[in-house]
Order: sequence, then structure tokens, then C-alpha cells
Amino acid sequence: MNKFQRGALAALLIVIVVTAALAPAGIGFLLAERSRRQERVELLNTAAAAALFRAEDVTRRLSGALGEIGKVSATPCSTIYLHELRRIALTHTQVRDAGAYDHDGRWQCSSLLGAVSAGTLEGLTLPAPDWRSRDGVSAWYALSRLPGGKESLVMGRDGFYVAADPSLYLDGRDNASAPASLAVINTEASRVIARTPATDTAAILAVYRTPSPGPDCASWVVRRSVSLPLAVVVSAPHQTFRQRVSTLPWGWLLGGMGAGLACAGWAAWFIVRRLSPRGQLSDAVRRHQFIVAYQPIVDLATRRCVGAEALVRWKHHDRIVRPDHFIPLAEHGGLIQAITDQVLDTVLFELGEFLKRYRDYYVSVNLSVPDLTTHRFLDVLRPAVARVGVRPQQIRIEATERSFLDAAAAKEVISAFRDAGHAVYLDDFGTGYSSLSHLQNFRVDGLKIDKSFVDTIGQDAASSSVASHIVDMAETLDVQVIAEGIEREEQAAYLQARGAKFGQGWLFSPPLSAAEFIRYASRTRGH
Ligand code: C2E
Ligand code: CA
Ligand code: CA
Repeated sequence: MNKFQRGALAALLIVIVVTAALAPAGIGFLLAERSRRQERVELLNTAAAAALFRAEDVTRRLSGALGEIGKVSATPCSTIYLHELRRIALTHTQVRDAGAYDHDGRWQCSSLLGAVSAGTLEGLTLPAPDWRSRDGVSAWYALSRLPGGKESLVMGRDGFYVAADPSLYLDGRDNASAPASLAVINTEASRVIARTPATDTAAILAVYRTPSPGPDCASWVVRRSVSLPLAVVVSAPHQTFRQRVSTLPWGWLLGGMGAGLACAGWAAWFIVRRLSPRGQLSDAVRRHQFIVAYQPIVDLATRRCVGAEALVRWKHHDRIVRPDHFIPLAEHGGLIQAITDQVLDTVLFELGEFLKRYRDYYVSVNLSVPDLTTHRFLDVLRPAVARVGVRPQQIRIEATERSFLDAAAAKEVISAFRDAGHAVYLDDFGTGYSSLSHLQNFRVDGLKIDKSFVDTIGQDAASSSVASHIVDMAETLDVQVIAEGIEREEQAAYLQARGAKFGQGWLFSPPLSAAEFIRYASRTRGH
């Protein structure tokens, strides 16, 4: 991944994390707002229904009281009449006062103050009513000149009236569902009959006249009576931003944010893991993205090919990645065993037929620490070789010193490989601290002189003699020698002269594909 791709990935991850954290909070907020609006509308509807019921009830009771006065047969304002008025006013708790007026609207008598002749009502005339029904009922809203001096709602008919406290229409508002403001309207007169103190009459009438609810429909509700010319308008209080915030379902919001962050974290972790070098290598193992190159090993005397070393490559996005770049990572990341198995499978698949046909060729396979401390790979190798029909001697093992950390285990596994017929070579011989002691401790079939000693041949007398000494020692111990990294003829000649029997390097051939290797082998061996 280049710098630009890494930057883009980081930006993408930030977007994912932020979105995942905010989205649930945003959605939670919207849902909470929606449910709060619904709750408000429901609350207002309930309040409106209760208010309308009360308004109808009060109106019916006042009509009932008015009807009762109509039935009194005594002469209006006579003592008996006044007595009856008082009785009616007393039995109807809603009625504050009852009385009579003449056809010019002049006051005649009142249950509270008696006959006009008593003086108090003398000269008092009712104004034109605020509303008159088809069946002759008149209504005065907010009449303040009545006995008691308080503002009254008056209903009259045929010269007699009942007066009530307008706030009767508003009572029962002390429960939890009480709206912020309530107004009762006479729908025929478009007059406000009663309203809560802070309610603006003009605003209420404007709301009432609006044909359909506006966008802020949750803030007020209008309900009309089907039997009486009445309507109620209720409105909810305006909530401040603070109040809205304090009533949010914070548990859900924070929970949503937490869940979002957790998901985002997981997604980010997953992406980073997938795109990390180890993640990509693990992907490569899953997808079998490894190919094998075969570098011929030749007999230095005859230059004839005797076998090959299998060298793995990672085919990554049309790029070939060399093993030095991913083997250490595979060893660290616990992927090396799977890679070794794929190399073996490839070798047997590509060269199985060739090896079966030409029994004196071999292919050596590089092993890492885990496969030299347990019998796992041997348990894979043995049946695989048998299945293809290749002789165990044709698959050889290369083990570097790094693999001998657990010397006892390595010793045991190496001897198991050898017992099974697989020759074992010490790779990169001479580069470690204790190559010599290993050669003493382990029984191996051969050693590979590291390229660094071959490089100096003909250049630096001191180090080139190391190669010569290794050859001598190998001869003493009766193990084979393969010199690695031979690039020049003089190196080959020198090593051969010192007794090295086999060699490998660009002088003979670079690593080849299976088909190229078969052609190379045929050319040098003439088959
Ligand atoms: P190695 O086992 O020492 O393999 C020899 C390396 O030297 C190979 O590099 C080969 O291409 C290179 N080479 C051969 N002749 C010459 C030459 O004349 N000049 C130069 N300059 N280089 C030459 P490669 O293929 O990159 O492999 C590097 C290392 O990766 C190997 O070193 C080996 O330790 C490891 N490796 C390769 N394949 C596998 C595998 O399948 N499993 C494991 N565990 N390790 C592997
Ligand atoms: Ca090797
Ligand atoms: Ca080597």
C-alpha cells in the first residue's frame, strides 16, 4: 500500500467511525423527536376531548336550569318567583345567579339581589347578546355588570336568565394532561366563551379558523362539538431547547452511540487487519497465491543438473514478491506451515511426473522453525510423496540454523526425516554462530555453503578460504557440499578444485518455472 492509499484508507476509516457513531445518535434523536410529537398530539387530543366534554356538560346544565325557570308559573319577580329562582340557583351548582329582564332588556329581578325595586339593579339594561340561537336562546359572554360584580357568562330566554362563572368551562385542568392553554369557542358567533389567563384571544381564533393544521400541528388541537355550536382549542406549551434536551431518551441515544462506535471499531479493526501485511498474507494463503521457482543444482564437474531447490514466490496483484519479504512475516504470523504445504503440493503437482520418470533427480524444499520442531510436516510429506509415487529420496529438506533454537526437538525431527528417506541439508552454512557445533550434533546429509563465502572467492583471500575449509570439513564428516550463489566461472572452478561436488547459482541458471526447469534438465542431461 502506498502513501496515498494509506491516506485514503485512514480518511475512509475516520468517515466510517464518525458515521457509525453519529448515525445511531441522529436516528435516535429523530425517533425520539417523532415519538415525543406523537405523545404531545395524543396528550393534546385527550385534553381537548376532556375540555369539550366539560364545555358541553356545562352548556347543557345551564340550558337545563334555564328550562326549569321557564316552567315556573308564578308571576315574574314575585316573592314566589324569586323563591323559585333561588331554589334553581342553589340546586344547579354551575348557576351563580338567575333572574328576569323585560323585553327591552331591563333588569327585573335576581336570585341574589331580589327585585329591581330593591334599588341595586335599577336602570341596568342588558346589552345586545353576543349570540342568539335559532330557538331563541341569547348568550352574553363576559358580562361584568351583573350582581356580584364578577365577569359572568349569561344565557337568557323569554325574559329570564342564568349566569355562571366562565371559568367553569376551564375547570378540571389541574391534572397531568392539562394543556398549556385552553379556549372554548362559540362556533356560530366565532366568539371566545372562556379562555385560560395567558391565552391570546386573537391567536386562538386564528388557530381555530385555520382550515388545516400547519407544520407545527403538534402544538395545538381544535375539537368541535357535533351537537352544540362549541369548539375547544388547546395548545401545548412551547418547549425550550433545554427542556427538549432534558427530555431526550439519553439512555437510548448513548447506547446507540456506544453500539455504533463498537461496530465502527470492529469494522475499522477488520479493515486494518485485512489490509495489514499479515492480513494480506493470510488472504494469499487462503487463495493459494504462491508459485514456486526451481533453481537447478548442478554437478560442478559435469555441469549436469541433479535437482532443484524449490523457491517460493507470492503472486500479489500481478507482482511477484520475493520470499525474503514475506517469509519472516509468515514465520511470525503463524502462516509458514500452510505456505510450506502449498509449496510441497505445487512441487508434486508440477514436477511429480518428471520426478517419477527420472528417479535420480530431486527437489529440495526449505523448511522453517515450526516444521523442524514437530513431526507435522513429515506427516504431510510422507503420504503426499507416496500418493504421487515419488521416492522419498527425491524430496530433500533444507534447514537453516535459525530452525535449531530447540536443538533437541530439531535433532529428533531431522533424524525422523532422514529415517523416512529424505536427505537433510544445513542451509546458509557458515553464517550462524554455531554452524560447526550443529554439524557435530546433528547427523545431516549435506550442507550448503552460503553465497557470502562464494562471493569473496577470487577477491578476498581470507574469506575465500572459508569456503575451502568448509569443503574440507564436509569431506572429513562425509557429508555432501552444495555451493550457493555461484555467479562466475572462476568461483565454480575454485570450488570444484577444492572438492565441492555440487553448485547452484546464476552461472548455471536463475530460478526457473517448472517447464523451464524440465527443459534445462533435459538439455544438460541430454534426455
Ligand atoms: P536460500 O535458501 O538461500 O535460497 C537461495 C536464494 O538465493 C534464492 O533467493 C535464490 O534466488 C538466490 N540465488 C541463487 N543463486 C543466486 C546467485 O547466483 N546470485 C544471487 N544474487 N542470488 C542467487 P530467493 O528465492 O529470493 O530466496 C530467498 C530465501 O527465501 C531463501 O534463501 C530461503 O531462505 C527463503 N525461501 C525461499 N523459498 C522458501 C520456502 O519455500 N520456504 C521457506 N521457509 N523459505 C524459503
Ligand atoms: Ca535454501
Ligand atoms: Ca541458502
